[in-house]
Order: sequence, then structure tokens, then C-alpha cells
Amino acid sequence: MKAPLFLVLCSISVASFAQRDWNHIDTEGIISKDSIKKKGYTILFINKDSGFSTVTKQRMIDTYFKVYPKEAKRFNKKTMKMVTFIIDPGYDGVAAAGGGVVRVNPKWMASHPEDLDVVTHESMHIVQSYPHGAGPGWLTEGIADYVRYVFGVNNEAGKWSLPKYDQAHHYTNSYRITARFLVWAEKNFNKKLVNKLDNAMRTKTYKPEIWQELTGKTLDELWGEYAKNPVI
Ligand SMILES: [Zn+2]
Repeated sequence: MKAPLFLVLCSISVASFAQRDWNHIDTEGIISKDSIKKKGYTILFINKDSGFSTVTKQRMIDTYFKVYPKEAKRFNKKTMKMVTFIIDPGYDGVAAAGGGVVRVNPKWMASHPEDLDVVTHESMHIVQSYPHGAGPGWLTEGIADYVRYVFGVNNEAGKWSLPKYDQAHHYTNSYRITARFLVWAEKNFNKKLVNKLDNAMRTKTYKPEIWQELTGKTLDELWGEYAKNPVI
């Protein structure tokens, strides 16, 4: 099994975790631990926050079962069959994933209870399991937000949407800005674009020329076209 070796940090805050500590689950402070299996996929949900909403917990679990099998089916059937979610007051970002473990900051979910597609985005990082040096980080995050856009279950209520194109944008901006560009490029040039990019990243065969191979245009040419007519 390919071990995802690196941590994808999904917020600007710097996690206080050393990478080696990410997968270590300290049993101290565990309020509840649920292992649920459905159709071959398991979630281990560990809650370390005594005030965490049981409704949010259930909705996050439901989201996992709705989206993770779809992400696996479309992108990586060999992905891990079990994902551990930890509601972790010790994690000060929003959420991040690595090595089959997703840590979520309870404060974020308490203040953004509709943002259930944090699960969709982070689960995709498990599916991605890109090795070190796979390719640009902006593409990793862009693909995860593309997947949130395509497979998200509660984006509207979570007030999450792709931002309108703006002249100040650039594909390296990552996240939603890159996701929107991917939606546009896929629609206009190659229906398999995101699948191919994702696979290239996972197999460490990504190279800048891949854009030309898949679309007939270099990445910068493609962005130039996008800037001229960014309708999606
Ligand atoms: Zn991310």
C-alpha cells in the first residue's frame, strides 16, 4: 500500500503538529470513539471536544459516506478503506489531512456548522495520497476544491461557492480559484483533464508539459484563454 507521506495543510494557520505526530492518536481526552462501516468503507470518528455537537458529528459522518466512495470511484479505487477523523481542540488550523487521518478544529465547526464539505475536501486529500514532490501544491488544493464543487453535499448552505473570475487571480492562487479554472478547462478542452492530472500527481508523472498534452495549450496559454472568457 502506498503510504501518503506528507501532510496537506488546508488552512493558512500553521499546524503545531510535527509531521511525525500527525498519525499518532493520543488517547487522552477522547470523549467518544465510533467506528462505522458501510459498503466496504469505514470511518473512525474520534471526538476530543466535550462541547462538540452530536448533530454536526452525525452530519459529518453522513457526508463521509456520501462522498468518499464517489471520490474513490472516480479517482483512486485503491484508496484507503478507512479514514480516521479527529475532532481535535489541539489543532489550530481549520482542517488538514495526511496518512489516513483528518484533523478538524472543533471551533471551526461550531462557528460554521453548515461547512460539512470540509469533509469532502479533506477526504479527497486521502484519495489523492500524492507522494512527496508529486507536483505543485496549488494543484493539490485546486483539485480538492474542484471535488468539493462537484461532489459537495452542502456547499450552498455552507455559503461556499466558486468565486467569480477576477483579473487579480492566477492559477497558483490554489483552492477555489484554481478549482474554477479546472472546471472551465475541463468543460472546454478535455473532459478527463482532472482525472489525468490527479493520476499524474499520484504516480509522480506530473510535468508542466502535461497541460499541452491534455489540452493542446500550455498552462499559461490556457490561463490567458480563461481570462478572456471565464464563463463556466
Ligand atoms: Zn486541502
